[in-house]
Amino acid sequence: MKKILFIVLLLTTAVFAKVNVAATYPYLGEIVKRVGGDHVRVTVLASPKYDPHFVVPKPSLLGKLSRADMLVINGAGLEIGWLPPLIKSANNGKINPGSRGFTDASQVIDLINKPTAVSRAYGDIHPQGNPHFNTDPHNIVPIAMLVAHKLEKIDPAHASDYESRLQHFIDHWNTFVQSFDAKMKPCRGMKVVQYHQLYNYFLARYGIVSMGTIEPLPGISPSSKHTLKLIGMMRREDIKTILQDPYHEKKTARFIADKTGAHIVVLPHDVGAVPGTDTLEKFYLSYAERLCR
Ligand SMILES: [Zn+2]
Repeated sequence: MKKILFIVLLLTTAVFAKVNVAATYPYLGEIVKRVGGDHVRVTVLASPKYDPHFVVPKPSLLGKLSRADMLVINGAGLEIGWLPPLIKSANNGKINPGSRGFTDASQVIDLINKPTAVSRAYGDIHPQGNPHFNTDPHNIVPIAMLVAHKLEKIDPAHASDYESRLQHFIDHWNTFVQSFDAKMKPCRGMKVVQYHQLYNYFLARYGIVSMGTIEPLPGISPSSKHTLKLIGMMRREDIKTILQDPYHEKKTARFIADKTGAHIVVLPHDVGAVPGTDTLEKFYLSYAERLCR
């Protein structure tokens, strides 16, 4: 009798146990929740308030990584400055790079802005190409598919649930993106300047031209020489829009706006980075609403 009870208990635990998933950034956490539903417990490592390149490796993150059955990262070098030492210290075989629970979203994305020469001599923080592919809503479905297939392997008891949730999400997302694309149409051909090369995937998708960045190079603070050159170019090209993320200093953008008559549009870099963007849909809609009215 005891033996039977034990087996029943064991089976129940297996069926009801949740998969602990750690995601590096909020948008990845949202994708995991949408595909995983009740079968996953999601924890997000980086706050959307800060620069995604430079996350403070707090001790609490270590606990989250130690308990994780699966780790979902953006990849393409975005976590290179903060995550590797944490993974090492967490010493959790389930989530080490190359292990079953390790999921790198960049693997299903065609990266753009790949450097032609491999060198970090100029302080480039995008050595593998541009890692900010989450700004294009068309990149969400491939990542959701990757996450769902990984969950099916880690938690085969619920494989059919993950598959049906994924199909439902894909249908929903395709409808959403179709209406989003229509909202972005009036912006085609627009010329902008951005602080960091954050929005390149989004801009390329919707035919908006990035004419320059306030940073001379990714990760390098603005210099007066570069800023004056940018102002001259913006006047010549009649550029009236500066895209600013929520976490960099805004002094330089204000100075440039003052000299050129351009206006500053703050676009979130991730879900929840500015108020009212706490879902994937609201995050993208804020782009159309702020930029393309
Ligand atoms: Zn960057």
